[in-house]
Amino acid sequence: MYKIIAFIYLLFPYFSIAQSNNSASIKLAIDKLNTLGTVLYFAAHPDDENTRLIAWLANEKHYKTGYLSLTRGDGGQNLIGTEIGIELGLIRTQELLAARNIDQGEQYFTSAYDFGFSKTHEETFNFWKKEETLKEAVYLIRKLQPDVIITRFPPDTRGGHGHHQASAMLAHEAFDAAADPNKFPEQLKLLKPWKAKRLVWNTANFGGMNNTNDNQLKIEIGDYNPLLGYSYGEIAAKSRSQHKSQGFGAASNRGKSTEYFEHVTGTKATESLFDGINSSWDRLNEPQLTNKIKQQIEAIQETFRVQHPEQSIAQLNELHASINSLKPSLWKDRKLRAVETIILQCAGILLESVTAKPNFQVQESINVSNEIIVRNPEIKVILLAINDKAINETIPFNETSKFNSSLEARAWTQPYWLEKPNSLGKFDVQEQDFGNPENVNTPSVEFKISVQGLPITVNKEIQYRYVDPVDGEILQPISITPIFTAELENNNVLLAANGKKELTLKIKNHSSIAQKATLTIMDNADVKVRLDNPNLEIPAFGELNQTLTIEKLNDKDLSNIQLLINNQKLTGIREIAYPHIPKITWFPPLAIQVKNIELNHAIKRVAYISGAGDLIPQSLENIGIQVDQLKESQLSVNNLIPYDAVVVGVRAYNVSKNLKSWMPQLLAYTKKGGTVLVQYNVNTRIPSELLGPYPFELTRSRVTEEDAKVVFNLPNDPSMQYPNKITAKDFDNWVQERGLYFADNADSNYRKPLSFADKNEQAHDGSLLIASYGQGKFVYTSLSFFRQLPAAVPGAYRLFVNLLSKEVK
Ligand SMILES: [Zn+2]
Repeated sequence: MYKIIAFIYLLFPYFSIAQSNNSASIKLAIDKLNTLGTVLYFAAHPDDENTRLIAWLANEKHYKTGYLSLTRGDGGQNLIGTEIGIELGLIRTQELLAARNIDQGEQYFTSAYDFGFSKTHEETFNFWKKEETLKEAVYLIRKLQPDVIITRFPPDTRGGHGHHQASAMLAHEAFDAAADPNKFPEQLKLLKPWKAKRLVWNTANFGGMNNTNDNQLKIEIGDYNPLLGYSYGEIAAKSRSQHKSQGFGAASNRGKSTEYFEHVTGTKATESLFDGINSSWDRLNEPQLTNKIKQQIEAIQETFRVQHPEQSIAQLNELHASINSLKPSLWKDRKLRAVETIILQCAGILLESVTAKPNFQVQESINVSNEIIVRNPEIKVILLAINDKAINETIPFNETSKFNSSLEARAWTQPYWLEKPNSLGKFDVQEQDFGNPENVNTPSVEFKISVQGLPITVNKEIQYRYVDPVDGEILQPISITPIFTAELENNNVLLAANGKKELTLKIKNHSSIAQKATLTIMDNADVKVRLDNPNLEIPAFGELNQTLTIEKLNDKDLSNIQLLINNQKLTGIREIAYPHIPKITWFPPLAIQVKNIELNHAIKRVAYISGAGDLIPQSLENIGIQVDQLKESQLSVNNLIPYDAVVVGVRAYNVSKNLKSWMPQLLAYTKKGGTVLVQYNVNTRIPSELLGPYPFELTRSRVTEEDAKVVFNLPNDPSMQYPNKITAKDFDNWVQERGLYFADNADSNYRKPLSFADKNEQAHDGSLLIASYGQGKFVYTSLSFFRQLPAAVPGAYRLFVNLLSKEVK
């Protein structure tokens, strides 16, 4: 099931105003030295954040500005590929980091899992384990010490999505709890209680709901920043357009724009978000020193020369000394690091730690080429040490100096939140990782350098560098893998009692030496597994295929098979690459799930028209159906006739450029006796004659509780009877939801055999429409088969093949 996707990969081709050494960026960084204020924006998902406000707070007001997204957006739909769940969360994590790289905010997460659309905060809190999520939010507030906390949503139904409502409630509770030493006292070993000045709700006017009003605090944020050459509306659009997996490309917004804030708690603001907050050096209460610091910063601002930033280094070193003589505080540390970064920029110092290959395996030695160059003149730079090994060499002007180092690859580079299995609503993470967007212990090199006498320590993440003939020099993260990983064409096996299935297991040796290994299977009373040959010899970097024969011994619903290699659990490896984000590597567990299924069908070949991307083709192949993916241009009646059925991928109507030309072909095929099954689409004013043979409408209604009760409106409908008799049991163990974007106002030619209702809601019968048309059958279904089949839900398979099967008349 875990296949490596080989997309062409190019890193960081995107617009970036960050980590630039140009003089405008240095000037902005110097200006920021005068501001000691922090803002935390608080919401639930990647894309909830107000990128314009974040860009404005960080670059116009110079505040340290964080965005806490409670989840990584795992539960959404993917508009650029087939990854869903955890892998979609991995992609969206990187999309948010790419967005922050542009708007200069900082990114944080909790361990809450986006389990899909939720209608109530009660359901959300059940999944998230409210107290646990609150604990992480409190930890982050105590760590960042924000002066102002801003929510995107209100804590009630006006917030819409249950996650949104919950995010506002959590923000309020965390605001109070962070200040209370009796709350989560274990955190106070390292942190102090923190009381932010105020909590406000950043109201908005969208989606037909206007929560702004003239009594709210209004702030104009449409400014243009000449140092950046962009207005905040423009930066916001570039930042927001990083949410590519959600299809959120946004147009630039230029000119005036107003943000509205409703007071929630703390001291009310009337003029600005920072009313009554001292965000200057005076807040440190050491007037003698801070007055001097302010004068020093002012002098640097006045004398900074864009052609010769290095001429500011002496003053910056003096400023560093003044800050260093302050009493210990969070701001002292932050400003020391900021000054050090500016000094490196002023000197034009570039540090890189690169490898000649992307992957290493545990225990391998990582050989690193460390490069340092000083590109501005007349600065005395000494490389003192690399990884605590003394070097003490003066670095010549404008010549790359190279120093080799090596370190042992220790732990796999598994994203920290995926180290342990997650529950349905939460990842299992340790306190030291609370809030972190990514691993903090990525393989890195520590440089100690002296710039005009000031020692500065810099940690550089080790990267793989190569040159792509089209895209030029590319840097990407390195990964540390287990010695062995394995791939199965499918790790969800559906079998009836006494059924047998063969699977091919492809085992890879990642090391540069041949390896002997023993493959074993953990004892299992429900399933018998036979191996070709448990004693393996795999050449260096080689692969070996093993055939596993799985025999199900009883009719138990679910059994897990765990494979061991040299008595260690075998894992998979997945690489995810898209042009707008760094390459992602992770190691999914490689257990085989064997599920009980009694499945009858006569379907041999299915034509598939892809939409926004789903794993239905692989899922149908999993039960022995041949699936041919056809292009829109191939959809003629003649081409379709040989197929038992045609399946249309999720959102195909939304992404198709030629729906008008192929839909009539599909309907003509149906007329001649074919079966067409169309999966869900979003309503984007598609003409009703293109939806199906008879009219219906698309709505935003969904049934989000995966265990929502099923009602059989037409228990004797052929779709419920043949070839598999569908019962309530077939709706057990569904994942995430029943369905989304249900149909409504369907023509009377459609049969609607099923209804579902979330708790306290009316039952909805728009999840499945079936119409006989000519000699054939047309099915429109909003049931989330695209989630259920890849998750190998037996009942969903039984229903799906019924829908594809010819009806017995
Ligand atoms: Zn959201």
